[in-house]
Amino acid sequence: MAIDQKARYAYILEYYDSQAEMIRRYQLLYFLADDTIEMHDIKNRRIFLKRCQYDGIKLSDFFVGSIVNIYSRNLTVVEYADEFTRSANVKNHQRTLAMIKPDAFKNAGSIISAINNAGFRIANMKVFSLSRTEAEEFYSVHRNREFFDGLVDFMQQKPIMALELVKSNAILDWRAFMGPTNSNTARQNAPKSIRARYGTDGRMNAVHGSDSAENAIKEINFFFGTGHKFTSTAQFSDSASSCCLIKPHAFKENITGEILQEILNNKNFAIGALQLFSLSKENAADMLEVYKGVISEYVAMVDELSSGPLIAIEIIAKGTDKQHGVNQFRDFVGPFDPQIAKILRPNTLRAKFGINKIRNAIHCTDLPEDGNLEVEYFFHLLQ
Ligand code: UDP
Ligand code: MG
Repeated sequence: MAIDQKARYAYILEYYDSQAEMIRRYQLLYFLADDTIEMHDIKNRRIFLKRCQYDGIKLSDFFVGSIVNIYSRNLTVVEYADEFTRSANVKNHQRTLAMIKPDAFKNAGSIISAINNAGFRIANMKVFSLSRTEAEEFYSVHRNREFFDGLVDFMQQKPIMALELVKSNAILDWRAFMGPTNSNTARQNAPKSIRARYGTDGRMNAVHGSDSAENAIKEINFFFGTGHKFTSTAQFSDSASSCCLIKPHAFKENITGEILQEILNNKNFAIGALQLFSLSKENAADMLEVYKGVISEYVAMVDELSSGPLIAIEIIAKGTDKQHGVNQFRDFVGPFDPQIAKILRPNTLRAKFGINKIRNAIHCTDLPEDGNLEVEYFFHLLQ
């Protein structure tokens, strides 16, 4: 069937112009027939971008809350601009809250790969350490159940990871993908499910998923809304902390899970804090300031770092070699240039996941004295 040449979705996008210190609003049209976009500046009623195909932009990038990068601006989709777009998108971009529970945190990378492969997009992601009160609040619907205390105890044991997932029919699809509540039942009845593969028993069952549209909103808000302030899990340890960024290109290529799993498998390191961020160009420039005028790729590095969501991780070096935490992690990440890494250090992260000097999959702290500064930039300043 031929697609109607005029059929298009319409979105309202916002961009914080830090120079003018104001929010700019645009209407963006996405033409379905030829995957072209057109943008209008709402206030000035002027065309901002003439209808064109824009490199790297696709329909699935657009849903309320998503961030798209156009002309080096990080624009947030804040609304659907008409009913046609809204009704189509509400179906296509349902959201749910997933959680990786303490027993499966060691497999968080593999679970994220599975999530990506099943067609879920990750709109938000962060590691938390729940207090008793927080765990009780999250599971308050089960307050009167006999398993409540045991469940709350379990949920406070170790870090957990909360994920906001987007997909058509996300709520039911994620519940089906998780499998039955009891991991042993899951191994019998749904052997491919996440709980069958990574769960332990009836309580320690690897993952959580919202059970209704109403609860999805509540639970997404619980972790990612502005209402509750959680204590940071970052340790800001002077000698042992270093900062690792899974760069936007790697996040886009859905290799975040594989990279994270390699880090989790390495017994020399622990994860202190982890969170998804979208950096503005100014933030990326700030973050990479030390390379300005030193490395010729500085401008391209800033562009890459602000081109979409990235994952920031506080890496804590464990064991006796704490003093050399930053160097130890750098060793594991490998040479700056993946082409060199592939020859000299084929087991390093950049050799395995990098493409070129700019898209080298990982940023890691270079100098021991900068470890804490970079971690503080993400887990203190940007909070
Ligand atoms: N749970 C438990 N004992 C039980 C049933 C549930 O410890 O007999 C835990 C388990 O971790 C489960 C959570 O409580 O995931 C919430 O229970 P629910 O019935 O809502 O299951 P879910 O929605 O997670 O599948
Ligand atoms: Mg439930």
